[in-house]
Amino acid sequence: MQAIRAVVITDPLLEQLIYTKGVMHLRKQKRIDLAFLPTSVHALPRLSEALGCNLWIKRDDQTGLALGGNKTRKLEYLVADALVQGADTLVTGGMIQSNHCRQTAAAAARYGLRCALLLHADRPVHNDGNVLLDKLFGADIWWADSFATIGQLGEHVRNNGHKPYVIPYGGSNAVGALGYVNAMLEFVEQQKNIAQKITHIIIPSCSRGTQVGLVVGAKIAGFTGSIIGISIDYDKTHKEKYDQEYVDLAYQVAEQLGVTMTFTQDDFDIRYEYAIGYGIVGELEKHAVQFMAQQEGILLDPVYTGRAFGALQSMIHKGEFTRNDGVLFWHTGGASALFAYAKELVK
Ligand SMILES: *Cc1c(COP(=O)(O)O)cnc(C)c1O
Repeated sequence: MQAIRAVVITDPLLEQLIYTKGVMHLRKQKRIDLAFLPTSVHALPRLSEALGCNLWIKRDDQTGLALGGNKTRKLEYLVADALVQGADTLVTGGMIQSNHCRQTAAAAARYGLRCALLLHADRPVHNDGNVLLDKLFGADIWWADSFATIGQLGEHVRNNGHKPYVIPYGGSNAVGALGYVNAMLEFVEQQKNIAQKITHIIIPSCSRGTQVGLVVGAKIAGFTGSIIGISIDYDKTHKEKYDQEYVDLAYQVAEQLGVTMTFTQDDFDIRYEYAIGYGIVGELEKHAVQFMAQQEGILLDPVYTGRAFGALQSMIHKGEFTRNDGVLFWHTGGASALFAYAKELVK
């Protein structure tokens, strides 16, 4: 384990940018190298033409680990923390087709760690999509009737003589969200080399770490455009409570970084109206997945990016953007789940 610990690195990009902004007292964040970074940013010419909007995309579906996705960036910090703490087992959970679980299982394999997953079967159980991949990566799969919480699975691992490192759903705690602070700093550097000024960023948002990391990173790096999260799991019934949870996580991230910042609910633009139920593929999602595939040859996923891109199309139709705006769709991955949703997506 000692040799593996030696590869834990601090984040030069993060430190350099924060120091050049004059923010002092940055605690050194440990990070391992899991992702192929920077992920590319490119225009979507056919979609822009078809929809009458300057559309760009950032390809976090191509982070390189186990078919990619946004959880790779979070795991760069989470796995580093696990190694520093001397853990030998990554423990986490999610829905049966969880992309977070698939990437965690792969990260564990890469670092010679064990992986235990607590999966909730919101769909029929088959060895397809991400479940197939979890098994290929050698993860130990538990179904939700075995343990009530990920923490209890962690205790079980400990009682069996192992050292668990428990990662919450979606990897969204203050450590995991650092991956998206770093991602925003990366994007601000890329913006310097593209002609289009990006005025709006659209992302799917679920366990919040991605959007919170981007918002914290935006404050640090001075990105002043809108960051719009399309809520995937939560509808507006508890908007007030959910909005506050974004703010709370943002404060935890700032504390983790050792910087003083203020956040309010106004920092988080979250659209709750597209959340028709987790993993439900309606006309909006289905059309969005097909449209992106047929216009640009890019695969979205049925649960997150399909819904978020469908929401973006609907926002364009409602006239939310002007002709001068540059709209960046931040692709967070998940196409490996497509195979499990074949029936919902094509005849
Ligand atoms: C987990 C996930 C998201 C949501 O990110 P959060 O940080 O949980 O809000 C979006 N897209 C894909 C493909 C995901 O797997």
